[in-house]
Amino acid sequence: MSGGSSKNNTIQRRGLMLVISSPSGAGKSTIARNLLKDDSGLSLSVSVTTRKRRPSEIDGVHYHFISVKEFERMRDSDALLEWAEVHGNFYGTPREAVETAMAEGRDMLFDIDWQGALQLQEKMRADVVAIFILPPSMTELQSRLHRRAEDTEEVIRTRLLNSRSEIEHWREYDYIIVNDDLQTAYQSMQAIVAAERLRRDRRPGLFDFVRGLLEEEPNLG
Ligand code: ADP
Ligand code: 5GP
Repeated sequence: MSGGSSKNNTIQRRGLMLVISSPSGAGKSTIARNLLKDDSGLSLSVSVTTRKRRPSEIDGVHYHFISVKEFERMRDSDALLEWAEVHGNFYGTPREAVETAMAEGRDMLFDIDWQGALQLQEKMRADVVAIFILPPSMTELQSRLHRRAEDTEEVIRTRLLNSRSEIEHWREYDYIIVNDDLQTAYQSMQAIVAAERLRRDRRPGLFDFVRGLLEEEPNLG
């Protein structure tokens, strides 16, 4: 279970499943990367995908890049907790890593689309906190996709066309962040994580903690 140095931080807590979605280019991976760097209590769920690796991506770190055949094998043997076809490629969350993390009370971050978010919400509602990142405008979304400079023009066009139908799903999320200024958006994300970790229903250890508090002898002087 999650812990820390002070007595308050050692209270036993259930792991959090932090799901982040957005239309491609809105900044979800950037925000997720910052969070993973600054928050040692959080691990990334590394998805499998049949998409081609981008130049900046490392196999096993950003994704496990696999063939369609291997994907089908995993999907059909129930090795994926959720899966979806996005922009013409298959993506899925390997079940084992998530189950291990949750059993140990560790928090996990999922960079997945609305179809995956819905599947996790259906299966594990109590553990899931779903956050949707919106771009400040469609013009800015387009220029971010170009600035990222990792996809071909055709891929960028597909992603832009799909972005409207993805944005339609914003109501299915618990929190919405408009990523205009990156620092402000990131601070909002940190605030959500901090608050969700403090939720009473996620902290079964509070029963023991409060019992201990009430057992302390009052010092009335
Ligand atoms: P996503 O994971 O949602 O597809 P990325 O995190 O890859 O998007 O971001 C797309 C591009 O936009 C990247 O080049 C990133 O550096 C840039 N970016 C992200 N957030 C901002 C922001 N608030 N302002 C300007 N550029 C941003
Ligand atoms: P990209 O190709 O830009 O890395 O990701 C494309 C889309 O697929 C993004 O919206 C991303 O969140 C989503 N995605 C990545 N991994 C998974 C996954 O395991 N499951 C689902 N459902 N979507 C994923």
